[in-house]
Amino acid sequence: TFEARGYTAWDATSPVFIRRGSNHATLCIPTAFVSYTGEALDKKTPLLRSMDALSQQALRVLRLFGTDEGVSRVFSTCGCEQEYFLIDRRFHFARPDLLATGRTLFGAQATKAHQLDDHYFGTIPERVLAFMAEVESELYRLGVPVKTRHNEVSPSQYEIAPIFEQANIAADHQQLVMSVLRSTAERFGLRCLLHEKPFAEINGSGKHNNWSMSTDTGVNLLDPQDETHTNLQFMVFLCAVIRAVDLHADLLRASIASASNDHRLGANEAPPAIISIFLGDMLTDLLEQLESGAPSSTKRGGTLELGALTLPQLPRDPGDRNRTSPFAFTGNKFELRAVGSSQPIAWPNTVLNAIVADSLDFVCSEIEKSAKPGATEARLRSATVGVLKKIVKQHKRVIFNGDNYSGDWHSEAERRGLPVLQTTVDALPSITGKAAVEVFKRHKVLSKNELVSRQTIYAEQYATQLEIEARTMLSLARRLIRPAVIRHQTELAEGIAALQAADVDCEDQRLALDEFVGLVDQLSDRITALENRVEGLAGEGLKLARQLRDQVIPAMGDLRETVDSLEGIVADDLWPLPTYAEMLFIK
Ligand code: ADP
Ligand code: MG
Repeated sequence: TFEARGYTAWDATSPVFIRRGSNHATLCIPTAFVSYTGEALDKKTPLLRSMDALSQQALRVLRLFGTDEGVSRVFSTCGCEQEYFLIDRRFHFARPDLLATGRTLFGAQATKAHQLDDHYFGTIPERVLAFMAEVESELYRLGVPVKTRHNEVSPSQYEIAPIFEQANIAADHQQLVMSVLRSTAERFGLRCLLHEKPFAEINGSGKHNNWSMSTDTGVNLLDPQDETHTNLQFMVFLCAVIRAVDLHADLLRASIASASNDHRLGANEAPPAIISIFLGDMLTDLLEQLESGAPSSTKRGGTLELGALTLPQLPRDPGDRNRTSPFAFTGNKFELRAVGSSQPIAWPNTVLNAIVADSLDFVCSEIEKSAKPGATEARLRSATVGVLKKIVKQHKRVIFNGDNYSGDWHSEAERRGLPVLQTTVDALPSITGKAAVEVFKRHKVLSKNELVSRQTIYAEQYATQLEIEARTMLSLARRLIRPAVIRHQTELAEGIAALQAADVDCEDQRLALDEFVGLVDQLSDRITALENRVEGLAGEGLKLARQLRDQVIPAMGDLRETVDSLEGIVADDLWPLPTYAEMLFIK
């Protein structure tokens, strides 16, 4: 407010669009937003800068290999799978926690959740299918090329995915996907929940960010092609990505950090907070060959016989897929699976582009030391193999093809020296760490100042979000839960009094009441404990964020535990909130 002038600039590379409502239409023009000093205030400017940096460095590689003919630009490409929940809108209005925070702060588990996987493998519910079709036509009108729709693992969870586009357009379109999902849901009497963890204990939602690099002539630079061992250029791009992710795993982790995504990344759920790369059999084999010299063969998948005469033979991929890896190679692209469902994708893609640009710069410069553009093929080959060999040796620790959910991986990752940054508070400092500041500066993506402001804002966002959650929880516990619990207790006591008056034995009921009163006392204690923690908060930024993580989150967990136990006992007609079973199974 004190120095507040800012500028917008049209981004001519991202199509304008018209958003229509029932009686209005708005022309929307994608724009960059910067301050009076020219510092980026938005997510678009750094993304575009990072794409420029990537293009510049990738073109150097193409020139080196003589494959740059007709190519004037290299784009990072991006296709995002968006997971979301849909619940009946009326439940949403009856849950002040969903209204204020996007997630349920209380809620005992339903007896049935996804144990049977019957939602995942089942058909799409009729109302939801109608909703999806409407979302799709709305998005086509806006120029968003959506393609895939399906049920997801958790009850009432779904997914939508587009055909990939260049990252900047994909990022704008991704915002539109979230917006259209939300607005269309209302028209179908539904509420779309984009929060990473709207319901405890069942799978949360992510946004798998599929990422690659492509020339403006349409060549995918991460396509290994048939004879991969002869495709040195591919190996350069692959090794540059591996090196980038290993050197900046902490920054990549920070780029997907938020209070809501911590529920997924910290827990035993896709994927963990440790950044590693899955390559699959074929590429792992290729890198092993590289490490000991020039690769001489490409592993093949062969064909699959299904055993029935009427079914076809299937060509088999040279490697399986790994759904537990946060950064998995999937055929001709990488899939950053750790992005949160509610998160704009511009920031993680800015980080990916910048660190890969830096890595390409390094690899190219190393190769150029002994083979300049135009060098003989043999010379180029030996120079490249020499450089890549060193990179594989140095950075292979970040490759992990095993099960990322297993407990062993945690200790193994620590042994390998990979950063294990469990929470947002642990991750955010990397944004202004020395390595990050240098990379962003070298490639003119973000200045130190711009990084500091981002870190500050992410920390503030984390703290604010959690404080709102804690206060909402207290308000619910005091104004909805406790009164209901007292009513239930009164009914129990009155029942016992009536039995006693009629001289009926009521020892069991008395014991049940005693136990209940114990829980009610615990409820009061835990409300007070959380209140004290919230009132004790002081300071700002990461300091405040740390207090919330260490003091407030545990007290919220305690209070929730008590309330969820009470929910399992209190008479259904007295319980003041829609239950998990109602919200998740009434479709
Ligand atoms: P799955 O659920 O099996 O992982 P989906 O089909 O749901 O796969 O999503 C894959 C996403 O990856 C799609 O959005 C697709 O367009 C995108 N994609 C495919 N190729 C590329 C590429 N070269 N660069 C970026 N994204 C890509
Ligand atoms: Mg998918």
